[in-house]
Amino acid sequence: MNIGIFYYRSLYSQSICSLSVGKFSDFLLNRGYNVKLGVLKIDDFVYNRTQINNILANDIIIYKTNYKDFEYGIRFFKNLKEIYPNKEIYITGPFANLNANRIKESYKFINGIFNMQDIETIEKIFPTLKEQKVEKSTVVYGIDREIEYLEKGKYINLEASTGCIYNCAFCHVNILKYPKNTIEVDRLVNEIDFLVNKMGKKYLIFNDSVFWKNNGDTDRLLKIIKEIKNRNIRFNFMIYLSITNKIPIELLDKLKTIGLIRVFFGVENISNKFQISNNKYVSETDTKKFIKILESRNITYHIGFILFSYETIYEDLLLNLNFLREIGKLFRPGILVEKMRILPGTKNSEILYNSLEKIDQAYNYKIKDERVEKCYNLICEYFKNINIRYFEHFFSSVNIAIAILKNYGLNDEFKNEIERYYTVLNEVNEKIYKILNEMFINFKYTETDVKILFDLYSKAEFMHIMFTQKLKEIVPDIFKMLPHGKEDINI
Ligand code: SF4
Repeated sequence: MNIGIFYYRSLYSQSICSLSVGKFSDFLLNRGYNVKLGVLKIDDFVYNRTQINNILANDIIIYKTNYKDFEYGIRFFKNLKEIYPNKEIYITGPFANLNANRIKESYKFINGIFNMQDIETIEKIFPTLKEQKVEKSTVVYGIDREIEYLEKGKYINLEASTGCIYNCAFCHVNILKYPKNTIEVDRLVNEIDFLVNKMGKKYLIFNDSVFWKNNGDTDRLLKIIKEIKNRNIRFNFMIYLSITNKIPIELLDKLKTIGLIRVFFGVENISNKFQISNNKYVSETDTKKFIKILESRNITYHIGFILFSYETIYEDLLLNLNFLREIGKLFRPGILVEKMRILPGTKNSEILYNSLEKIDQAYNYKIKDERVEKCYNLICEYFKNINIRYFEHFFSSVNIAIAILKNYGLNDEFKNEIERYYTVLNEVNEKIYKILNEMFINFKYTETDVKILFDLYSKAEFMHIMFTQKLKEIVPDIFKMLPHGKEDINI
């Protein structure tokens, strides 16, 4: 029995692997199914044509969807099912699980929707075919890395643990009851060793919801650090943290000695009201303190932020805008234009209006404060003028490169390029702040503001090209560690 699992790349800042798909493939292989993985691309009929035979070779097709690709992908598979009615098509992924009823109602062709964490259900849909598992050479420590082997970049996603101890109102991890597990020390270090020394990956992106959750994790992480040092495994890595519980500084320093160069943490919003209302307690003071700690150690950082939510009041909008300017993050329009998702069944979900046009209802609400709603619409319209994903990438990739160059003592050779990066970053931050501040006060923007945005985009793009081209020529290894920032497979 052949099963094909297909998905679209949703994050451009990570490797192309979907860990959940990779693990699920391994689960099916163990039950005697032949499994193929494939990636599709939104709006790219030339590329998708190269995948069609791979898709049709399967008896069962699983589409792992994300809210960004759902409306495109579901129609693709609906057309396929019309011509090949005997193919079984299943859908999975958090978005599908949260919206299962609506999807089933609108797309009757689907054979089923399942949650990959729900062992009882998946055992029923995919019973063991034969006791002997199907061997597949691309399985690495329980994860099918088939797609990863196609990607030439030296960066890769992995997990040291799963699940989360927090309960942020806007997050699906606990709603969908993701199990809390940790990977045993030896097994994890073996996996790291394989990824680094056999697959040649040098920038590891730990996708754990929270890498260090509380003191209960400290000993385990110290053992991992010790083992990595003993085995002299050399790589750079990034982790996700929450600063609601603060990671001990000594532990952070030890992680730094084995290659920590980047931390993601959720700030979300510095207004007290937002934090209380959404169960996310990260103060402005704590955030700034933590940023100082990271900066003094040459650890770059990336934050989760939600500028607009249902309950955002006008005064808080300005407060948060000032904060983003202060920490220099206004090169990230993505966090400005994406208002808080209200997930089905969570607090406030009754305010969502029912749009029959699409499955995703999470954004179907007007912000309570009319002035904030106006600002939200203006900001979205304004940033439609540029490709915001690329714009952010121009800075974040160079930011990672600088941290690695400094670690390797190669930053002097890039002195001019690094200066240029900071000059452009500051200019972007200041100019965007000025435009948004006026937009929020006067409820409009001008043609000149759009021209400024075009100029900034072009400047950022050129800075990025010059930096990365030199990197590619002088230290190609570091160049290959940078996520390439595109939907395509990095080949
Ligand atoms: S800390 Fe992160 S993973 Fe955990 S509930 Fe909050 S948003 Fe979700």
